[in-house]
Amino acid sequence: MCKRLFVAQAVDEGILTIEHAPPEKVGGTPLALTCKDCNSVSGYTIDAAVVEREKLIDAAKAITGQRRNYEGRATLKMGDELINVRIEVNEGAISIKPPLNINDPKKLTAYIDYMMYLHKEGKWDGETFNIKPMASFKNKYSRIGDLKSAFIVSFAKFGYKYVLSKQLSPVREQILNYDSDIIDKYWLSSDQKIDHKYFICILDEPVSAVAIKLDKATVLLPWFGSPGNFYQYLEHNFQDEKQLSFHGSFLKWPESLEMEMDFFKNI
Ligand SMILES: [Zn+2]
Repeated sequence: MCKRLFVAQAVDEGILTIEHAPPEKVGGTPLALTCKDCNSVSGYTIDAAVVEREKLIDAAKAITGQRRNYEGRATLKMGDELINVRIEVNEGAISIKPPLNINDPKKLTAYIDYMMYLHKEGKWDGETFNIKPMASFKNKYSRIGDLKSAFIVSFAKFGYKYVLSKQLSPVREQILNYDSDIIDKYWLSSDQKIDHKYFICILDEPVSAVAIKLDKATVLLPWFGSPGNFYQYLEHNFQDEKQLSFHGSFLKWPESLEMEMDFFKNI
């Protein structure tokens, strides 16, 4: 991402590290090598945000019964009391436990007393609980994390010729400077109707672009025929659209560092 060149020994010396896209913890595959500096500048924060977002989605699915197995932490609010709990879902059966080591003992006693009281008086009906999964991430970082994954995937697929092109520089800048607002409109929520978890699509309509679907997110990157200032163009022309319907040709997802454009000159 930083455009620096490295010698082969860099891998052994730990200067270059294997990069998964999407991040390994959300099921990504190893696709490229990036340098330690780029990883520590942007990797940790933005990859972690992607992982946290995934955890939140999983927890919501587990609590609402759309997931058979799950383990995670949450807070449980009952009346005015807030305690920490472990949620476990085993083959669809949910158990919520308040572990000692992550709670104030006084609060825990109050919670148990209250539970006993409800039990004795038979007052379970109508009692409401509020369960909130513990996950904290900045939405913006998780989106930049998706942008980074799309960048790595397109590098694996197309190679240097593409990712080092002038059009991609705002993308690189945004990944490396994740606190700045450099580009917008690169992120779309994936269309639920599409079955494929991942895809690469070269769009010809409504604008020349590359769409990279990473499960729940679809990232738009400029392509060779794209208007200059691609993201400003999207902002001006697709201001209010949450979902874009597009048309184009699908390409095979890279399985390794394929770098098609660097090796085959004619595509
Ligand atoms: Zn680098």
